[in-house]
Amino acid sequence: MTLYADVILPLPLQGLYTYSVAQEAINSVHAGSRVIVQFGKKKFYTAIVFRTYQKETLEQPVKEIVTVLEEYPIATPLQLKFWEWVAMYYMCSLGDVYRAALPSALKLESETLVLLNPDFEDGNPLTTKEQKVFYCLSPDRAKTIAEIEKLSGLSNAVTAIKSLVDKQAAYISENIQDHYTAKSQTAIRLAKHYTEDELNAIIDELGRAKKQQHLFSIFLCLNGKTPLVLKKTLLDEAGASSAALSELLKKGYLETYEHEVSRFDYGQTNIDAAFDLNQYQQKAFDEIKESLEEKDITLLYGVTSSGKTEIYIQLIKEAIAEGKQVLYLLPEIALTTQITNRLKAVFGNKLAVYHSKFNDNERAEIWNNLLKNKEIQVVLGARSAVFLPFSSLGLVIVDEEHESSYKQQEPAPRYNARNAAIVLASLCNAKTLLGTATPALETYTNALSGRYGLVKLTKRYENIELPQIAVVNIKELRRKKQMKSLLSPPLIEGMKEALSKKEQVILFQNRRGFASMLECKNCSWTPHCHHCDVSLTYHKGQRMMVCHYCGSTYEIPAICPECETPTLDTLGYGTERIEEEVTQLFPKTSVARMDLDTTRGKRSYERIISDFEQNKTNILIGTQMVSKGLDFDNVSIVGILNADNMLNYPDFRAYERAFQLMTQVSGRAGRKNKQGLVFLQTSHPGSPLISSVKRNDYESFFEMQMQERKVFRYPPYFRLINIIVRGRDEHLTDSAAREFASALRNTFGERVLGPGKPPVSRIQSLYIRHILLKIENRASIQKVRESIYHHQSVVFANPAFKSILLHYDVDPM
Ligand code: ADP
Ligand code: ZN
Ligand code: ZN
Repeated sequence: MTLYADVILPLPLQGLYTYSVAQEAINSVHAGSRVIVQFGKKKFYTAIVFRTYQKETLEQPVKEIVTVLEEYPIATPLQLKFWEWVAMYYMCSLGDVYRAALPSALKLESETLVLLNPDFEDGNPLTTKEQKVFYCLSPDRAKTIAEIEKLSGLSNAVTAIKSLVDKQAAYISENIQDHYTAKSQTAIRLAKHYTEDELNAIIDELGRAKKQQHLFSIFLCLNGKTPLVLKKTLLDEAGASSAALSELLKKGYLETYEHEVSRFDYGQTNIDAAFDLNQYQQKAFDEIKESLEEKDITLLYGVTSSGKTEIYIQLIKEAIAEGKQVLYLLPEIALTTQITNRLKAVFGNKLAVYHSKFNDNERAEIWNNLLKNKEIQVVLGARSAVFLPFSSLGLVIVDEEHESSYKQQEPAPRYNARNAAIVLASLCNAKTLLGTATPALETYTNALSGRYGLVKLTKRYENIELPQIAVVNIKELRRKKQMKSLLSPPLIEGMKEALSKKEQVILFQNRRGFASMLECKNCSWTPHCHHCDVSLTYHKGQRMMVCHYCGSTYEIPAICPECETPTLDTLGYGTERIEEEVTQLFPKTSVARMDLDTTRGKRSYERIISDFEQNKTNILIGTQMVSKGLDFDNVSIVGILNADNMLNYPDFRAYERAFQLMTQVSGRAGRKNKQGLVFLQTSHPGSPLISSVKRNDYESFFEMQMQERKVFRYPPYFRLINIIVRGRDEHLTDSAAREFASALRNTFGERVLGPGKPPVSRIQSLYIRHILLKIENRASIQKVRESIYHHQSVVFANPAFKSILLHYDVDPM
């Protein structure tokens, strides 16, 4: 009998690959083990064993596993099950999931040796950076990344190397050596055990070397207090040079050793740092617990600033007291120091923060800590934290569950971390709590139908009132020629008053929709698609308007069909222009701008927030970033500069996002004993959406949207699968997409839309077409997938389509 292992390769290949296990390795190869295997002629990869089994022989001879990287599996059986679900549901390969799941330090990327693929067919065009790297490579002698960087003169060649590997222009020959290194510090200890008398004798003996004697005494003194004496501490305390220390080491009294330190030493857990809940929070807490007894998933629908975090903290406390682990998910951008500090204060070194801005070693350390079930019990993380190796997960919290940034767009797996977390929790028999002030329509539907429990919290902490929302009709003001700037007179007045009282102001401008729409300057008419009820996107290059959903194109009308004047204009303005106007209006006030451009640096985002927190800046101008989980206590005015460009965004979720954004941004206003004031500037003051925002009436907004979703066949009534077809040749791409769509129509009929051109229809010289599938929610998704794959295999068996790339985006957002 031989032991065989089916492994997952870190490649976008469907299926598993089988290798045999050498006799001497059979005890160290298990499901979840990390192994090095050869794949192709010369390529070596770190693979993960998916399963092992005994068999006499296989029909096809297979290669043997080259090396097993460690004695213990690095992924748990539960994780492998989870990966399998992600790959199946999101229609990608297990290799895609493996690549997303493991921190790259565990994928050995930094020690990676790179080779040129001599069989590379120039089917894929290379970028300049890729070309530079490509010409440094050789097919016979592997080069390290460092060498390549030197040769190519690039300071960071890793991304280019990665994409070359993806394009199969280069391949990786990985070094067996593990790149991951724990951070360590040099510490000092006695070379052997000495008796009291012996120690005194040493001190006497050192009598003539005063410096060494002093150093030795200080060491004994420190050593009496703590078993860990760091070299640095000792030298600092003694004010001594390392020369004296080397003498003592040479004489054999002391010795050095490496002390491994955790990077996550947040100090002791201090459960008392948790606040007492007020009566409303306590009631919600009790209801959540009761609900979770019965249901696996519960929605906490609590208004902004109701103190949801404190409720989570209490729930986490209870879970860890029972020895359970907790996963607390937040959208990346909401993972600010505000929230991490709050949790650190309570959970100390039981807490780990898992974040894409951390380096790989830090992430690998959290991975290993959880795998070995050491001190970490709470992980606060962005979406990729769902892939960590939990062993006793008891509770998952998804805060701001409505956030679209939970969805990974690129690359595969294109998963929604909220939904994946729910599945992870159910695999672990854990409970899930979703929290938000503005539930996603899908989530609220589930809560109303009873699939999820529902707990409401309608009081803000300290009974601060929800802000008052003043709707400003800018169309009317424009007509009366009173709009002298982007800020309306009432908003300017409000700001003046607030600033004079040393209160702060937030101005919000939606980033999306910048100059991509047309609007009539006279009557505010905007063009919509005849088939899809979304507004059209203006494509400057083509002088066309396009519907992003069905792909229909429209001519640009010469005059406005509504009011018949020739005043169609592109719409939208950026935060930069607002900043300019604000500094002119308030020259003596300190203004900060927070958007993608001003927050590129690692720390800049936090600096802008802390300056504002400390009242160093008085006006904060920003995009959606200012709406995310921030808690300021001196903001009395919020200005929403243009509500309309959120509504006109060509996406069926535009209204939902607009409602969420406006509610969240408004939620930043309001201080103790004082109600906040929001100025909402719009050309459509009477629209039902604006009035539901004004009344803070989620329910009526929900009803309204659900009707539209039903009529136009969108989620939550329908499930969407977007099929993305890409190719170098536009004609070929187009015909592949058409053929695939018409094949799909044989099964799915009018549920198939397209193919259409996406807004950016050519990326990196690849032409792109989208096919959208709308499937009734009650349909078996399993059968749907099977049928799609069937049509795919038939259509793409055509050798003409060999170079066409295809991928799926399930539940696109
Ligand atoms: P939410 O997440 O619901 O919008 P937060 O959790 O950010 O609200 O709470 C709003 C503010 O109220 C924070 O400054 C928080 O520290 C404070 N707060 C909430 N609950 C309590 C409590 N029970 N005791 C003391 N402060 C609280
Ligand atoms: Zn008009
Ligand atoms: Zn359309």
